Amino acid sequence: MPFSKLGLAEPLIRAVREAGYSAPTPIQQQAIPLVLSGRDMLAAAQTGTGKTAGFTLPILQRLSPSANGRSRPVRALILTPTRELAAQVAESVAKYGVHLQPRLKSDVVFGGVKINPQMQRLRGGVDILTATPGRLLDLVAQNAVKLNQVEMLVLDEADRMLDMGFIRDINKILALLPKTRQNLLFSATFSGDIRRLAQTLLRNPAQVEI
Ligand code: AMP
Repeated sequence: MPFSKLGLAEPLIRAVREAGYSAPTPIQQQAIPLVLSGRDMLAAAQTGTGKTAGFTLPILQRLSPSANGRSRPVRALILTPTRELAAQVAESVAKYGVHLQPRLKSDVVFGGVKINPQMQRLRGGVDILTATPGRLLDLVAQNAVKLNQVEMLVLDEADRMLDMGFIRDINKILALLPKTRQNLLFSATFSGDIRRLAQTLLRNPAQVEI
């Protein structure tokens, strides 16, 4: 199945072609149409399966029609366990969104580096924010970012986030989000804790497994 059959807009297909991908991976074939349809999703996916494009491409598409190129609140929030993963995801968002007009603003914040430059950048507004949970909460506490307009939430590598003890932070973040939103949960493994999190987070989720 080619990328053009998944319902993606031409600027995104062009970016994917420029990335050198000839066909969508199995997780992309399943996830992209589902996320475009607006459904919640529970996905069992390891790193290396192409899962990042599986959620970043449809997020870009869903937010794109109402982008206005100006300062604005966070509309998609992607939480990751580590700064390395956060940086990789944000790189994907930038790469796949390069041909969209107007451009969607993407940024990434994580701990272990100075908070002030991140606060300054966020002042300019951001559509798609990728973050590690602790630093995101620090930025919220500093009033540097508001999460009350988030339309789409991704928990990437949710099992690792729980292993690293982020459940309290995640619950605090969930309490700051609007009730009505689309939720995507990616995890390589499915412990009782992940299942409980999925149950509180997801509404009538489509399940994707590869
Ligand atoms: P991920 O599992 O999202 O970390 O992606 C693993 C790697 O696969 C990344 O380097 C992507 O650039 C690459 N990739 C993602 N989608 C495709 C595709 N459809 N065809 C070939 N490579 C891909």
